[in-house]
Amino acid sequence: QGGGEGDNTPELDLARLRVDVPHSARIYDYILGGKDNFEADRAAAAEIVKYQPTIPRSMRGNRAFMARMTRHLVTEFGITQFLDVGTGLPTSPNLHEAAQQVDPTCRILYVDNDPIVLVHARALLRSNPAGRTSYLDADLRDPAGILDSDQFHETLDLKRPIALTLIAIMQMFEDDEEAHGLVRRLVEPLAPGSTLSMTIVPDDPEVEAGSAIYRARGLPMRTRSKAEAERFFDGLELIDPGVTRSTHWHPEGVPETGENHMYAGVAIKR
Ligand code: SAH
Repeated sequence: QGGGEGDNTPELDLARLRVDVPHSARIYDYILGGKDNFEADRAAAAEIVKYQPTIPRSMRGNRAFMARMTRHLVTEFGITQFLDVGTGLPTSPNLHEAAQQVDPTCRILYVDNDPIVLVHARALLRSNPAGRTSYLDADLRDPAGILDSDQFHETLDLKRPIALTLIAIMQMFEDDEEAHGLVRRLVEPLAPGSTLSMTIVPDDPEVEAGSAIYRARGLPMRTRSKAEAERFFDGLELIDPGVTRSTHWHPEGVPETGENHMYAGVAIKR
């Protein structure tokens, strides 16, 4: 097989890749200014931006939160282990870069089920030699497949706190019972002092307009109220300031002004 347009990866599974239909990770990559996307993704992205013009800012705000939250967990909570599910295409700074900037011994397991993320995973594996990063091609719908994997046990130690990060992924899970069950099953085996970080797409009117385009193209897009977002943290202790707009979660300096359509929250398991 010869690889798709614009890539040079011979082991690419084209049947799994489906470059002819838009894919959320590649739409996201395109809107963030990345190169790892195809015509179908760019067409969908253009239409989404038409209905949701602030989406590029919300996506950048989401990435900025991810880096800030990661540094905060290392600095303030001494966390050195991360389980990042729904990693997405590499975008600088990646989570391990943010974490290892503070403590080079940080260890990170990245998980995604998208073949194009797998193809680009090399960029996620450039760990500081003092720490470690691994990549697991697995599905959030199968928490045991993540927790029982060799990569998990070679990278992370369940006896010590782990930061579970679910950043901009739960909008793909439309059924609340399933979504909450999956998060619970990943949190359950984690040691006290572990944390859950999430960003969640809000049900703002502008987001609903953009979401209709995702859904019309067969892509799941579940938006949530603030109360629904907070429910993901039930049984855990939300860190100040609770669930808030991503730009307002421990901003560095004055938070960015303008609309931001993303909720963010971090909680501790006691
Ligand atoms: N966390 C990154 C990327 C968000 S895009 C960021 O915030 O920048 C959502 C990612 O979740 C995509 O890469 C997509 O492939 C992945 N994803 C979606 N459903 C998944 C599933 N069931 N299991 C694992 N990963 C999934």
